[in-house]
Amino acid sequence: MPTISNISARWILDSRGFPTVSCSVTLDQNGKKVTGSASVPSGASTGSHEALELRDGGSAFGGKGVTKAVKNVNEGIASRILRKEFSSAQELDEYLIQLDGTDTKTTFGANATLAISEAAHRAFANLYGLELWQYLRRLYFSELPATVTFPRIMCNILNGGAHADNSIDIQEFMLIPKTGNIEKDIQLCSEVYHQLKKNLLTQKEATAVGDEGGFAPNLGTMPQVLEYVNQAILDAKFTREDCDLGLDAAATEFYDSETDLYNVDSLSLTSSQLVDYYAQVSKDYNILSIEDALSEDDIAGWSVLTEKMSEKSVLVGDDLFVTSTARFQTIAVEQKIANAILIKPNQIGTILETAKVINMAKVQNYKIAVSHRSGETSDSFISDLAFASQADFLKCGAPARGERVAKYNRLLEILDSLVE
Ligand code: PGA
Ligand code: ZN
Repeated sequence: MPTISNISARWILDSRGFPTVSCSVTLDQNGKKVTGSASVPSGASTGSHEALELRDGGSAFGGKGVTKAVKNVNEGIASRILRKEFSSAQELDEYLIQLDGTDTKTTFGANATLAISEAAHRAFANLYGLELWQYLRRLYFSELPATVTFPRIMCNILNGGAHADNSIDIQEFMLIPKTGNIEKDIQLCSEVYHQLKKNLLTQKEATAVGDEGGFAPNLGTMPQVLEYVNQAILDAKFTREDCDLGLDAAATEFYDSETDLYNVDSLSLTSSQLVDYYAQVSKDYNILSIEDALSEDDIAGWSVLTEKMSEKSVLVGDDLFVTSTARFQTIAVEQKIANAILIKPNQIGTILETAKVINMAKVQNYKIAVSHRSGETSDSFISDLAFASQADFLKCGAPARGERVAKYNRLLEILDSLVE
């Protein structure tokens, strides 16, 4: 059985220039040594129910240092797993979960545990000479048909909310192409993205970008932004037959708990007024999906939304579910709220737990959207995860900036590797 012969974590910078955890795990099987490495992302519109992202506090890096998390890997965890035998990365994750002993990884930090978990999955894949997605499929998704199914991409081309210093309240406006061909889908996103830039320039709007690479002009309401997006699709010589649209409202960010109102698009709305607003905008602009349409704890509002819109719309829970089987059980299985789940491995802290919630959601017929974070690295683990799990969607930002295109490029690499 393989043993862990080395584990080493370090801090690196993420796409926003803040520290994050990177880790390498080396396995030794009968003298054959292989290493896997990974680095973890970080959110900005972070849900309050997410697993702990351990930060140092203090003045260095504005409190965002990760030396404590790095030390937890190199000392606390390493001393317990070095020279220990593990038959699989899944077994190592089970051990990590038990070692941490908390639901939200407060002992070690989810940034520490996920870095080890992802690095170990890569190391095991390397040991067996498998692509990462093949190893993930074998461990967690072996029941899936052997057909080649790429996720539909959710490509963020216009940013607002917590991801940009502009006047748009809604966090993300996304293209969701449906050409039926992953290369063409990515090409469409690239062409529409560049067309949008041209159109913004013509209108003398800013073309600086937000955290996920989408443009961040000072436009206004959802309809105003969607006019630009629609026009860019048409000007790029595509039609809405080629491309659906999605929103991530990240509504917790504009919900005021004191007044119980949502302050969005210069309106102050109750949950049910906001649902009516979404319904109207969805009808007017033919929106396929809305993520975090309501605040993470506004279960009553989510229930109204689900009732009114779930037949026609993909209603994605991000901060709502935080990739947690426990929250998915109470909110989705028991209360039938939303109809899709966003999957962010760092919301829970291991790949084993991430895979569990994906499988649980599939049993409930919820759509699966595997997702990046607004603070990213060039690690493309989520592309393999989305492909391995035959996720419905992969959400990985604009078709620009190195940390975003790493995910699209990994899909293209997977495609290429499938050609005999
Ligand atoms: P975050 O944003 O990584 O800042 O949380 C992404 C999202 O809300 O989906
Ligand atoms: Zn979100």
